[in-house]
Amino acid sequence: MATTTIGRVLLQEAVPAELQASLPAEFDKKGTQAFFQTLAEKKPDEYIDVLQRLMGIARLAGTEYGGVASLRLKDLRTPPGVRKMRDELRQQVRVISQDPVLDFKEKNRRIVELVSGKVDAIHAAVRDEADKDGSAFALSIKKGYRGSPVQLTQMLFGDLLMADHRGRTMPIAGLHGYGEGVTPMEYWSGSYASRKGFFDQQFATARSGFLAKLLSQSAQRVKITEDDCGTEHGLPYDGADPDNIGAVLARDVAGFKKGVVVTKDMLPKLAGKQVTVRSLSTCDTAQGVCKRCAGQRDQGHYPASGSYIGISSARIVTEPLTQLGLSSKHVGGVARTGDENLSAFDEINQFLQVPEVFIGGSTLAPVDGKVSAIDKAPQGGSYVRIGAEQVHVPEGRALRVGLGDEVAAGDMLSDGVPNPAEIARHKGIGAARRYFVRQFTDLLREHNVPTHRRNVDTLARSFFDHVRVTNPDGLSDYEVGDIASYAELQKNWKPRPGSVELSADDAVGRYLERPEYYFTIGTRITKPVAKELKEAGYRKVLAHREPAGFEPEVTRLLAHPSMDPDWKVRLAGFGLKSSLLAAATKGAVSPPDSTSPVPLLMNPSRIATRAEGE
Ligand SMILES: [Zn+2]
Repeated sequence: MATTTIGRVLLQEAVPAELQASLPAEFDKKGTQAFFQTLAEKKPDEYIDVLQRLMGIARLAGTEYGGVASLRLKDLRTPPGVRKMRDELRQQVRVISQDPVLDFKEKNRRIVELVSGKVDAIHAAVRDEADKDGSAFALSIKKGYRGSPVQLTQMLFGDLLMADHRGRTMPIAGLHGYGEGVTPMEYWSGSYASRKGFFDQQFATARSGFLAKLLSQSAQRVKITEDDCGTEHGLPYDGADPDNIGAVLARDVAGFKKGVVVTKDMLPKLAGKQVTVRSLSTCDTAQGVCKRCAGQRDQGHYPASGSYIGISSARIVTEPLTQLGLSSKHVGGVARTGDENLSAFDEINQFLQVPEVFIGGSTLAPVDGKVSAIDKAPQGGSYVRIGAEQVHVPEGRALRVGLGDEVAAGDMLSDGVPNPAEIARHKGIGAARRYFVRQFTDLLREHNVPTHRRNVDTLARSFFDHVRVTNPDGLSDYEVGDIASYAELQKNWKPRPGSVELSADDAVGRYLERPEYYFTIGTRITKPVAKELKEAGYRKVLAHREPAGFEPEVTRLLAHPSMDPDWKVRLAGFGLKSSLLAAATKGAVSPPDSTSPVPLLMNPSRIATRAEGE
């Protein structure tokens, strides 16, 4: 008979006979999950009883065996190796803060720089030393029961860098652990982040729920209404991107014809090539979208006719964001350098809300031209001169251009996330959609919220669909100032007199009169745009000297329902009084075949007849 332990015998007695073999060798996170999964599948009726019996054993062990199975005072003591490391850091901080030459600001900067450079190494050292020391906390983290390396560092080493209530890193390093007690000053500086963390946690669910609601409302009209819009346009991607699987090729590539659905087996052949795939950003359907542009989803099926894929995508993208809101409570010890520590949720939220002040945003070129001067700005940062315009790049942003560089309006002059609304204003709806898909997918990945690209593509279509009419020539149904749907406008657009077919190079300086590639009508053809068109194989484009009679109107999500042409859809939005009055003034109607679910929900009899008819 194999040797065993008393504990193991107790455990075996607590579980049903046929599950005894499934007991994990160790009740770590993985083993525990696997065991309870098996228990739930095989003995669902006994689940609660077994759980209670196991908890009884744990309680018994915790009380009767004391230090072996529970926490000891020793676990709160800082291990000698950690103590030594911390003494050194304290000494280095002291040297900076006592320096008679440095001014206050420079001392702060150096302290933040010094400590933030060591954060990762300290987390690792604390974890290893505490583990070597036999700390129950370290064991608990290692096995995945409770706690995180950051919390262990806070207890045994100190808070390190804390952010204040605005997320700015404070130059007061926490160099006492909570296990031994912190100084009043450390406690005080840590309290900002603690309060903010508590507040954020209480509001996280509400905030991400609200964002989900706004995104769903914005994307509610992205509904499958036809099989194939027949467009030959699409968005360019790296051929090896696994998110290409299921998408329909918009152009021939690597021996594959347009119209072919990308499969997993094709990826190696597409690697290293740029592929253009059908996308909802370039779908030609006026009301709703088509199946071919949406692409095949799970198990190789296109989404069903009538499905509201916009609302599904909004839900899929926002669900994990609740976790991001919750995670801001861990800000202690992980503050980044710089003064723009937006929380992950705030960064994503800001990207979607089109605020007037875009925190930590990239500075964009206001006009086309050559960078003729870069000067240090007295308030910090630098001034970049392009033609007659001068823009300020704030301190802490790295410049992306050099003297003499040729830039187009809307190009990024510094690092940082550019405001999507500004991109649309300078580069048109098509380029903004493409930028949005790429940037938003990257932003989500950066914050560990991976999502399939097509969900973001779906949101991009509705996010950039509004235009403001500036000149109604050729747009008979519209007046100056009207807000229109770009998709609808494109469908009804008749090229204006004076439009000419030109090579992309000859068209530079003019405006697109017909959608080409991922660029939309009205896009200003700059040199980089012409280059992209040529490289993608577009020989001739239809162009006009005058700008199109509309411009992108990128507004915050909150305003999307109240801009809807259907007055019933406006009822689901905000600012009802003004949006409904505006609808009444325009004589807005609510057509029975709406792509929005809202009018349908308001008419139960219609739902009933539809259900009978189907
Ligand atoms: Zn389409």
